[in-house]
Amino acid sequence: MARKMLNDGELSKADEGDAHYDFDLFVIGAGSGGVRASRFSANFGAKVGICELPFHPISTEVVGGVGGTCVIRGCVPKKILVYGASFGGEIEDSRNYGWEVNEKVDFNWKKLLQKKTDEIVRLNGIYKRMLSNSGVKLYEGEGKIVGPNEVEVTQLDGTKLCYTAKHILIATGSRAQRPPISGQELAITSDEALSLEELPKRAVILGGGYIAVEFASIWRGMGSTVDLLFRKELPLRGFDDEMRAVVARNLEGRGINLHPRTTIKELIKTEDGIKVITDHGEELMADVVLFATGRIPNSKRLNLKAVGVEVDETGAVKVDEYSRTNVPSIWAVGDVTNRMNLTPVALMEGTCFAKTVFGGESCKPDYTSIPCAVFSIPPLSLVGLSEEQAIEQAKGDILVFTSSFNPLRNTVSGRQEKTVMKLVVDGETDKVLGASMCGPDAAEIMQGIAVALKCGATKAQFDSTVGIHPSSAEEFVTMRSVTRRVSAGSKPKTNL
Ligand code: NDP
Repeated sequence: MARKMLNDGELSKADEGDAHYDFDLFVIGAGSGGVRASRFSANFGAKVGICELPFHPISTEVVGGVGGTCVIRGCVPKKILVYGASFGGEIEDSRNYGWEVNEKVDFNWKKLLQKKTDEIVRLNGIYKRMLSNSGVKLYEGEGKIVGPNEVEVTQLDGTKLCYTAKHILIATGSRAQRPPISGQELAITSDEALSLEELPKRAVILGGGYIAVEFASIWRGMGSTVDLLFRKELPLRGFDDEMRAVVARNLEGRGINLHPRTTIKELIKTEDGIKVITDHGEELMADVVLFATGRIPNSKRLNLKAVGVEVDETGAVKVDEYSRTNVPSIWAVGDVTNRMNLTPVALMEGTCFAKTVFGGESCKPDYTSIPCAVFSIPPLSLVGLSEEQAIEQAKGDILVFTSSFNPLRNTVSGRQEKTVMKLVVDGETDKVLGASMCGPDAAEIMQGIAVALKCGATKAQFDSTVGIHPSSAEEFVTMRSVTRRVSAGSKPKTNL
């Protein structure tokens, strides 16, 4: 068995000694970060155990499942529903392309739900096979840390098993949080929203983040009446303001009722559904109320206080830049550390952990130029700095290039929805600091732009790149004139 440790002298101190453990590494949580870390560690020669609760494909009572939130009740099922919902608009758009679509188009929610569940079950099987093919031993049960080198796994039948390990990795992710609103038990979270028995005819969504905006698009795309309530002027706080306005316009254009500066005061069960009373005194009736009000780290049941692992006020496990906690044998990756809560980031952190601890290479996750996407319909995707962040961080002027256009496809379909792109450039160095796009295929396009930003591309290099014609993506290399020049520290202005 390989016991290769990292080169970094300071980090390797805790690895000294000659204790005999059941495992080199025991991982708690088989989601994106945990599976990646355990497989890569095993590939480096470590003896690895991992625990995770078994899951029921429909019930949301038992939170668990190899694959984790992303595969079981997050990114993957959500994206399947986004695809499902997108066909509604596609069918409308197809009419001007010559497709004869009968007046009444039916949508069968139960069929999509079954197909989604089948796919999740298939992926869960693939993840389990990936673990066993790497030689990682899977234990189905809930993990708890009982000592710096000891994990207790409680199986569903209550049996408790104890394992020792030289290193323990916490990769337990996060879970949806519910605001303390009167009648909150009547609302659901994204866990249940992904497995509803019936498609809600009337949905009220509280929140203006990723999940709120994505579910608004999903349900509206399937024909539901959707009311989206959020506290700020625009949804998606923290994203580029101009692009937030574009998303809001598109959501409204697709028929979603937006309620800015609004929250829920009370939920009341009635014969006709759930009565939603807003803080403005407005009343809305709903079949489903979704709370999409953020997630909190899954750290409470791990016994961290007893073993001395520090957490912050949100319950996030505190780690250093190598993902190591204050207890040298215990590490943590992914949402439970609340650094940047995205699947690919958890994968990166898991990879770096394995390289550092078992691969003989000190590896710190690099959080620069991480692209992301909100899978609204159409999607928003971006990488690098927003205009507001660039203005705040820059020393000199910022050049903003924007393009707002009707994609070729819409000219025939008649859809009134502009695609908007934006580049934020450092006026002194010409370096592209940020790119964003709201329009069809934004995420697919942004992945390539992210490589350019990671390489430090300048606007001149974007300009010298030949476009692919006809495509929307080519606009990123043909934005010749500056939309505005903004001085560092000034207030951003938007033109769109
Ligand atoms: P977000 O943190 O993105 O958004 C939370 C929203 O809830 C904000 O609009 C916030 O409002 C609002 N909110 C919080 N508390 C309250 C409250 N008490 N009353 C009313 N509104 C409230 O969380 P999500 O739940 O949407 O998603 C969780 C995380 O999951 C994301 O941050 C992201 O990391 C990840 N995710 C990523 C996806 C992707 O990559 N496509 C998709 C889905 C999730 P305010 O802005 O006013 O604070």
